[in-house]
Amino acid sequence: MSETKFKCCICGKDVTEYGNDPWPIKEEGRCCSYCNWTVVLKERNRLSKLNREKNGN
Ligand SMILES: [Zn+2]
Repeated sequence: MSETKFKCCICGKDVTEYGNDPWPIKEEGRCCSYCNWTVVLKERNRLSKLNREKNGN
């Protein structure tokens, strides 16, 4: 796997890196690692917390 240039589907910047899966923020495309850490992972944490609460812990 090599680095490629792409447009981040969250912040819209052109970046050259491996790219990250933007789910659950977006279903398609790739996001930069900055958005991955600041947006995507936070949202995943939030969702898994919600799931845990739904299941009664
Ligand atoms: Zn981004």
